[in-house]
Amino acid sequence: MSKEIPYKIYLEEDEMPKAWYNMRADMKNKPAPLLNPGTGAPMKAEELEGVFCSELVKQELDNDTAYFEIPEEIRKFYKMYRPSPLVRAYCLEKKLGTPAKIYYKFEGNNTSGSHKLNSAIAQAYYAKQQGLKGVTTETGAGQWGTALSMACSYFDLDCKVYMVKVSYEQKPFRREVMRTYGASVTPSPSMDTEVGKKILAEHPGTTGSLGCAISEAVEVAVGTPGYRYVLGSVLNQVLLHQSVIGLETKAALDKYDITPDIIIGCAGGGSNLGGLISPFMGEKLRGEKDYRIIAVEPASCPSFTRGTYAYDFCDTGMVCPLSKMYTLGSGFIPAPNHAGGLRYHGMSSTLSQLYADGYMEARSVKQTEVFEAAEMFARVEGILPAPESSHAIKAAIDEALKCKENNEEKTIVFGLTGTGYFDLVAYEKFHDGVMEDYIPSDEEIAASIAKLPKL
Ligand SMILES: *Cc1c(COP(=O)(O)O)cnc(C)c1O
Repeated sequence: MSKEIPYKIYLEEDEMPKAWYNMRADMKNKPAPLLNPGTGAPMKAEELEGVFCSELVKQELDNDTAYFEIPEEIRKFYKMYRPSPLVRAYCLEKKLGTPAKIYYKFEGNNTSGSHKLNSAIAQAYYAKQQGLKGVTTETGAGQWGTALSMACSYFDLDCKVYMVKVSYEQKPFRREVMRTYGASVTPSPSMDTEVGKKILAEHPGTTGSLGCAISEAVEVAVGTPGYRYVLGSVLNQVLLHQSVIGLETKAALDKYDITPDIIIGCAGGGSNLGGLISPFMGEKLRGEKDYRIIAVEPASCPSFTRGTYAYDFCDTGMVCPLSKMYTLGSGFIPAPNHAGGLRYHGMSSTLSQLYADGYMEARSVKQTEVFEAAEMFARVEGILPAPESSHAIKAAIDEALKCKENNEEKTIVFGLTGTGYFDLVAYEKFHDGVMEDYIPSDEEIAASIAKLPKL
């Protein structure tokens, strides 16, 4: 008996998840531990607590607990903008003439314009619980900085954001949104920090990178009493909080007895993808079901598809712990003409282990094809997608067209992580035909990889 599927599948508030799900609990091969760059030994909780909030350190290091109850205050905040809809892309299917059934989980329905608020509110909550004065962070395109400013203003915490210089210049309105929520925003690299000064001396005129902004934010957090550093992606704790996306998606699909064949997400540091796939990956890891899972990354910053699986620094300034991940080298800075976000040199250690073990696929796409997909999607589905999200759209369209060729009725679910209202400079370049595809050469990647730390 198949029920007619509505355009939007909503959950009731009381159907929202009450606990986050930790995929690591079901992984046979656990993600490799963070290492102390000085000693090469696994980071102990005490060491991490100088940088991160204590409760978040616990979540970071816990590879065994499958479910973490979502505190009531966070659930209340979630209810202001969640559950987010799971949308059946009927209009896109029609446009493509595909027998495939396409669904997307839309996370752009809050002021940050992305899924990042799901973890920001959790991290701000734990910082407040610990009695801190404030937090520092980095932001690339600005969604994370915005999400964190919103979360900090909710809990009355100070928020210092280091924003990658190229984005700071291209997206002045993002900065104003953050300041509306009370955050201070500094373009990175800056002369405020030792690491910023050093990077500017070595690379004068650099447009910055996430890795570099992370170093600055960490330096300030560690050097300011009552402050800790928070990160919007990559870390296990962030994937844990983002599992709310996947849990809601699964609950919505289950309501209509829908089983996806293919699950697709864009991959920057891996948080939305890790969150979206988590309950499905759990079933896969436990041998209960099988799904094809596809990570989509930019050809200009291809950590999964062209990176090396090795221990590396999480930041350019080499002040953070070492993480074993697919990486392009912590000194890798994507070409400044790359407009589509997803600029991080590494990848979540959890997703890296799953990819190494063959539980998921990865592919890279060029930015002009990403914007073509974005435009097609915008014209039929009525949402202006973020360039990051459009990597997933591109792959979903490609898979749907394969279904058309082979006359297969597969069910495709992808993560539509956010909206692109602040990315109109990039859209403008695309429309003016001046957007370029930059693909790093093998030599360029090899030169960056050659600088991986020797253990
Ligand atoms: C930050 C961001 C991403 C990429 O980050 P992940 O941690 O890989 O999820 C994707 N889409 C949007 C809209 C973002 O803001």
